[in-house]
Amino acid sequence: MRGIWLIAIYLGIIVLPLILAAVGAKPPRPVWDEIASGAGMVAFAILLAEFLLSGRFRAISGGVGMDVTMRFHQLLARSALALVIVHPFLYTTPFGWALPYDPSRQLTLVQPGPALMAGAAAWILLPAFVLVSIARSDLFKRYENWRWAHGLGAALIAGLSWYHATQAGRYSSDPALYWLWTGLFAVAILSLASVYVLRPITKLRRQWKVCEISKAADQTWAVDLEPVGHDGISYKAGQFFWLNIGHSAFSLSENPFSVASAPAQKGKLSFVIKELGDFTSTLSSIPQGTKAYVDGPFGHMTIERRHEPGIGLIAGGVGIAPMLSILRELDATGDTRPVKLVYGNRNEGQIVASEELDRYAQRQDVDVVHVIAEPGPDWCGETGITDAGFIRRHFGRPEQRDWLYVLCGPPAMMTGAEEVLLALGVAPNNILSERFTYD
Ligand SMILES: Cc1cc2nc3c(=O)[nH]c(=O)nc-3n(C[C@H](O)[C@H](O)[C@H](O)COP(=O)(O)OP(=O)(O)OC[C@H]3O[C@@H](n4cnc5c(N)ncnc54)[C@H](O)[C@@H]3O)c2cc1C
Repeated sequence: MRGIWLIAIYLGIIVLPLILAAVGAKPPRPVWDEIASGAGMVAFAILLAEFLLSGRFRAISGGVGMDVTMRFHQLLARSALALVIVHPFLYTTPFGWALPYDPSRQLTLVQPGPALMAGAAAWILLPAFVLVSIARSDLFKRYENWRWAHGLGAALIAGLSWYHATQAGRYSSDPALYWLWTGLFAVAILSLASVYVLRPITKLRRQWKVCEISKAADQTWAVDLEPVGHDGISYKAGQFFWLNIGHSAFSLSENPFSVASAPAQKGKLSFVIKELGDFTSTLSSIPQGTKAYVDGPFGHMTIERRHEPGIGLIAGGVGIAPMLSILRELDATGDTRPVKLVYGNRNEGQIVASEELDRYAQRQDVDVVHVIAEPGPDWCGETGITDAGFIRRHFGRPEQRDWLYVLCGPPAMMTGAEEVLLALGVAPNNILSERFTYD
């Protein structure tokens, strides 16, 4: 339902400028001129709405998940780009100098002055901006540098577009539309300020410190934080936080990690983190007592207020982190619904919290199935991957159709598992998932 509401609100933001332009009762123009203006207005509205989508607002990402929010963000960016590219070429009224390759002046739109120059600059910058974002991992060695560039670039393009729309736009000279653009632009810039200035200020008052970092499995670390001078933070099992260890509260060096502890284990926050790049490879050398900040909680992958008769947890690799949080919460709250955890890893050395999982598996209501892709000679459990056949074998019983499913792991595993569960008749609303990568 939250997803439908969000889409309705976004459609509202995008359509509102068109409605205001339509009721502005300007003298009629050729239809292509109207379409050109409409394309420009819709593109600008999308661009401004993008700031809210990427602004870490719980009301937005909390209902549909951060990965879905970010994929929507990427899709909207591409749609805005297409509209921006065609926007100047759709105008039928040629003015300016005749160019040798455009004798009919169909492609010529020259209105001297800063307003058009601002539009032209945004028109050139936006494609470059989207292409750089698509090729982000090849172009930027450090994720933090990309975040800086992305935020500043987006603000610059929005500023140029605001100036262009309000000074050169035929409809935007009307006060209603002028103030709508100005209001939306202000909200966009405030959403940036909220992530990079306001939240860090609130984090300063709620500091944490590293109380332990220990090896959880091959190249995987268990990181425990404890609150400094406050009672901790309230969250739901399965959610995630942006974690900043050892940097200033205003630093962009923060990464998202699912919480592995349970809300019922008051105070402390635990994470299970796999070594991957710049930050995660330094975990082993972070000393006890290092200061830390957390931003969150975020995410919708939680079992709170879910009353399905059973719970299926499907995890791959470090995707076990949110499952541990859920299992720990179920254990701490004495929930006796049947639970089945399917946990895939490449080899036995990658299994996290194996003793704890064995302990849960002793219980009548909990079933833990490990599956190893490249087992050693001593492995006597399931082998292979969590493919369609495997999921059908473990979750194909008729009563399991009504269970709640939580999925987290490599993207291919999650897509495959989702498809099989849907084919088995599980309702889409009963499948929760969070991807660790947005690309
Ligand atoms: C919602 C969510 C929950 C996650 N939970 C866990 C978890 O419980 N355990 C775990 O090991 N990993 C988790 N991850 C993945 C984790 O965030 C990345 O592995 C980590 O950020 C890599 O950082 P790095 O500096 O070591 O690597 P880098 O080399 O800097 O980055 C490697 C990749 O990680 C991603 N990444 C890096 N920084 C950020 C950032 N600030 N925001 C978003 N993505 C970033 C990017 O895709 C980047 O290309 C989660 C990711 C998301 C989105």
